[in-house]
This record gives sequence, C-alpha cells and structure tokens, in this order.
Amino acid sequence: MSELVERAGSLPCRWIRSSMSTHQQALLGMLLLLAAIVLVRLLSGRRYAYGWTARFIASPEFLRTPEWRRIRYDVLRANDGRCELCGRNKHQLPPGEYLSVDHIQSRKARPDLALEITNLAVLCTADNAGKGNRHADDWRHPSHPHRQRS
Ligand SMILES: [Zn+2]
Repeated sequence: MSELVERAGSLPCRWIRSSMSTHQQALLGMLLLLAAIVLVRLLSGRRYAYGWTARFIASPEFLRTPEWRRIRYDVLRANDGRCELCGRNKHQLPPGEYLSVDHIQSRKARPDLALEITNLAVLCTADNAGKGNRHADDWRHPSHPHRQRS
C-alpha cells in the first residue's frame, strides 16, 4: 500500500525532472507561488482604511469605532447640528427622534467612502428612514464646505 502511494506520488515529479531543465523547474515553482498568493488575496477580500473589510464597514460594529465617532462629530459640527433636509436641530426634534450622520452612498455600496467627509450628511431619524439605502441623494446646500471638496 505505502509502496503504491509512493510510486503514484513520485510519478509526476519524475516526469517534471526528466522533461524540464532546472531553469524551467524554478520558473514553474515561482508561478505556483504567485498563483497561491493571488488565491489567498482573493479569498481574504479587499482591505480598506485601517485594514477593515467591506463586511466590517457594513456591520453595526463600524459605528462603534473611535474613527467613525470622530468623523461623525466633525460632520455634525460643520452642519451646526441640523438636519440637511428639514433644518431641525436636536432640541426641535420630538422625543424618540434624533440626528444621525448618514452615508450619502451607503457603506455597503461604497465601503471606500465610509470615512470620507464628502460622502456624509446630517439627517434626522424621519428623513433618514425615508431615504434608507434606496437613494444616494445629497441634500446639502451647494455652498456646504464638505460639498466643495468633493
Ligand atoms: Zn430632517
């Protein structure tokens, strides 16, 4: 049994050794290594800022990262803490409603823009619920500082 396995395993090796020069063998080895690297990269998926995957960026955990909280605050501050659509600030919203920083192009559609200030806008709960991931509408005023940079 072990002899059979040994013979079967050594057959292609013997064929490669007899039909290829050392140079060709080295080239084949490098090609196989390159193919393995490409395969591993494809399986692990593309990485974005901070080494995050698209799956992580689309998940609720993304919203708990200090990187997101920081940029979220900057956007609220730049917009004077008001909804882009109805102009209400948090003191004018009824109980249970709040302001959120919305991704104009969703985190799922454009994970590369998840931390991009030009892709963020302030919306109240009601307006954000209406938009959802169905639209990529930008309600910011044309003179908005974040709009200028895009
Ligand atoms: Zn609103």
